Amino acid sequence: MIDLRSDTLTRPTDEMRQAMARAEVGDDVYGEDPTVARLEEKVAGLLGHEAALFTPTGSMANVLAVRTLVGVGQEVLCEASAHIARAELGAHGAYTGLTMRTWVHPRGQVDLDMIRSMHAPDMGPFFVRTAAISVENTHNFAGGAVLALSDLRDLRELATGLGVAVHMDGARIWNAHVATGVPLAEYGAVADVMAVCLSKGLGAPVGSLVVGSADAIAESRVWRKRMGGGMRQVGVLAAAGLHALDHHVERLAEDHAHARLLAEACGVDPASVDTNIVVAPRPDAPAFVARAREEGVLVSAVGPTTVRLVTHLDVSRDDAEKAAAVLARLG
Ligand SMILES: *Cc1c(COP(=O)(O)O)cnc(C)c1O
Repeated sequence: MIDLRSDTLTRPTDEMRQAMARAEVGDDVYGEDPTVARLEEKVAGLLGHEAALFTPTGSMANVLAVRTLVGVGQEVLCEASAHIARAELGAHGAYTGLTMRTWVHPRGQVDLDMIRSMHAPDMGPFFVRTAAISVENTHNFAGGAVLALSDLRDLRELATGLGVAVHMDGARIWNAHVATGVPLAEYGAVADVMAVCLSKGLGAPVGSLVVGSADAIAESRVWRKRMGGGMRQVGVLAAAGLHALDHHVERLAEDHAHARLLAEACGVDPASVDTNIVVAPRPDAPAFVARAREEGVLVSAVGPTTVRLVTHLDVSRDDAEKAAAVLARLG
């Protein structure tokens, strides 16, 4: 089976498992796991922020990140198909007591005019006020689209002018960096706080981080424990993340090339594929998924007439070519 359902499906490589087995560990709730500390320091440095915090999932990282910026009865603005709005099952409302309003963009991009018109200033104790704007780079449900750096910089300026904060869901920021060559720290500079994932295309089995100021991270450390996310000798997992950062970032370019190959086979313009996700219209998505499965290719239906294909570390060139042949034949 060639599994194109998601880039979360990767299994740790032998080298990664060896790095995990060798990891020096301690109790991280006591702040005594040297491998976790090394990972947190490295990721904060890469993104140009003061500090970072290791979390079990990207969803927890997003909840912790956003709650450093937005309080009870305040709102965050985001694109309508953002992961925080669509795929975190109301966690931000449940834990933080915030509300969300959304703008719609088919490619998940920043819409400065909409944001300007949606922004709700502080009007006293009568109305919800906008505390933060959240952007997702790359944008998962918009087909792995990279957000334009010029828009992000304009957003930073607008947000600062309005006195609101910026959150970036950078679950796949590594893909954006490799696709564009924009240094990670330039993306980091746009956001007050970020969430990043090691468990997607980078191939670690578990792990995400919140990245931000020392104060935001100290606060997030308390809330992580409160939410049941304090982990003990978790250096074995941090070691997988460190290995992924050292060995699996530059190779994301291969995933992007494979995705373009698959796009072509599915009748999608390869130039519209920025990174490792292909979204293709099909008249009957579930039927297409079933037929592809019979031919040894796993893809997912993300809507009644939309299928999604995701390339990753466990999809070789050979796999991508085989899958492309099958998908082209299915039409
Ligand atoms: C996968 C993902 C997350 C986090 O997901 P978890 O499964 O909770 O680790 C967050 N944002 C985006 C855009 C994602 O694709």
